[in-house]
Amino acid sequence: MTSARPTIREVLAAGEPTFSFEFLPPKTEQGVRNLWQAIRRLEVLQPTFVSVTYGAGGGTRDRTVEIVERIAADTTLTPVAHFTAVNHSIRELRQLIGRFAAVGVRDLLALRGDPPGDPMGEWVKHPDGVEYAEEVVRLIKSAGDFSVGVAAFPYKHPRSADIDSDTLHFVRKCRAGADYAITQMFFRAEDYLRLRDRVAAHGCDVPIIPGIMPVTKLSTIERSEQLSGAPFPPELAERFEAVGDDPEAVRRLGIDQAAELCQTLLDEGVPGIHFITFNKSTATREVYDRLEVSGSRRNLLVP
Ligand code: FAD
Repeated sequence: MTSARPTIREVLAAGEPTFSFEFLPPKTEQGVRNLWQAIRRLEVLQPTFVSVTYGAGGGTRDRTVEIVERIAADTTLTPVAHFTAVNHSIRELRQLIGRFAAVGVRDLLALRGDPPGDPMGEWVKHPDGVEYAEEVVRLIKSAGDFSVGVAAFPYKHPRSADIDSDTLHFVRKCRAGADYAITQMFFRAEDYLRLRDRVAAHGCDVPIIPGIMPVTKLSTIERSEQLSGAPFPPELAERFEAVGDDPEAVRRLGIDQAAELCQTLLDEGVPGIHFITFNKSTATREVYDRLEVSGSRRNLLVP
């Protein structure tokens, strides 16, 4: 049972870097098979946790719950369920928390979520729901002894008016009871370090785990801009475009760049690395294998 496994809060308190992988609920049966193949391939690395995102609506929401339940029941992994307030009343959110608790899941990532259909659209809360992630954190914490993460945005949330208000709102949700945060993807260590400094300047020391996505194709760059709402660093884009005609060279550069970024961050003392996998194991494994990780985790690697 998952309840015997340490929570992310407990692992972070022990001070060893966490390594984790993020998966998406697939839309097709073939997608489900690919996901389980990736999970099994990455399981041997004994990550600290794996997380499963939660869709804005429709069928993939149930899939998230099913996948998290199956990870808890059938694998050695610790699942973290992403959990959004979109289209849910408080009553439904409480039921969902209960469903996770029933299968021993004690780690939830508390998110507001994006408006369904248009992630950049105007946010409208459910009439009986909550407005901000801060309230999701409180709701989960009031339901039991959960370890709760929240989202952080190195380039600010795309809908935030400015960096200062974004930082203040982030600190508020940490003070509501968040145990740690995971960032949106970014590609320069200094962008993460500036976020960490801004948050620390408010006296907030919640561990912020960087979210890393290796670029494996030029189209990943475009996808990263859609997801993060921030432009890809131009100096890096130039390096990728210079080898754009050679897919293998693009992939190699993406692995090199992600490995260098992770190593710089680890040397800066980040609490862990969270890999956004898009349900593919190979690139993530290659980056992970290149890292100089202190402590016992490195010894767990299977050749
Ligand atoms: P909030 O923290 O509530 O912030 C939303 C906006 O409101 C921000 O602009 C913030 O500055 C502002 N704000 C916050 N509090 C206040 C306040 N008290 N007063 C005024 N303004 C305030 N989306 C999904 O749909 N499913 C997922 O699985 C998912 N996983 C994610 C994982 C990570 C690591 C990250 C970084 C993002 C993820 N997202 C996911 C995207 C996320 O749901 C969206 O970016 C969403 O728009 C914001 O969620 P949040 O939890 O940061 O919201």
